[in-house]
Amino acid sequence: MATVTFTGSGATPRVGKIMCLGQNYPAHAREMKSEVPVTPVVFLKPPTALLSTGSTVILPPFSRELHHEVELVVMIGRGGKDISRSDAAAHIAGYAVGLDMTLRDVQAAAKAKGLPWSVAKGFDTSAPVSPFVPAGDIEDPHNLMLSLQVNGSLRQRANTSAMTFRIDRIIEYLSSVFTLEEGDLIFTGTPDGVGRVVPGDRLHAEAESVGTLDVVIGSPAV
Ligand code: MG
Repeated sequence: MATVTFTGSGATPRVGKIMCLGQNYPAHAREMKSEVPVTPVVFLKPPTALLSTGSTVILPPFSRELHHEVELVVMIGRGGKDISRSDAAAHIAGYAVGLDMTLRDVQAAAKAKGLPWSVAKGFDTSAPVSPFVPAGDIEDPHNLMLSLQVNGSLRQRANTSAMTFRIDRIIEYLSSVFTLEEGDLIFTGTPDGVGRVVPGDRLHAEAESVGTLDVVIGSPAV
């Protein structure tokens, strides 16, 4: 059963679906040679992709190019369908910092053929998340510094204010497509600076006021 932890309480909510935004920061869309989207770009990861802090991201044998994407992650508290922007905040249970680990070579091959990204984005260990903090502890989720270091050197740093689609709009859009349920997660997209990591690398992700996440990159056991 896929669960995550909440800071300051013993709660271990069960995670349902993991919805992810693509190209939600203009500078990242540009570095990927993509247009800034006019409607949210959405893909899913299975709950089996979850990983907790202090764990190892396993580079699968069918990829040679694993990338980091640091993101603010939202947990849904109260579920719903067709949630309005003005009601969206009431449906948020908490926030975490996460890594949308991506097999960039597999994704590029899928993109070239117009095929889905499920393998590139949803493989085991592709969704590390920090412990969650209650939504009420975060004054403004659109004014948080996000950062990622690899082996102590800074690779990504940006403010969540740069998101194209803000969280209320994301919840409005996603709930028009999917029924949202308690324990669902939303990865809100990565800023620019994504790049390759290799086995042995140590990743330290941080979201201001939210928390930190540490993982190492490993190879499959042989
Ligand atoms: Mg991403």
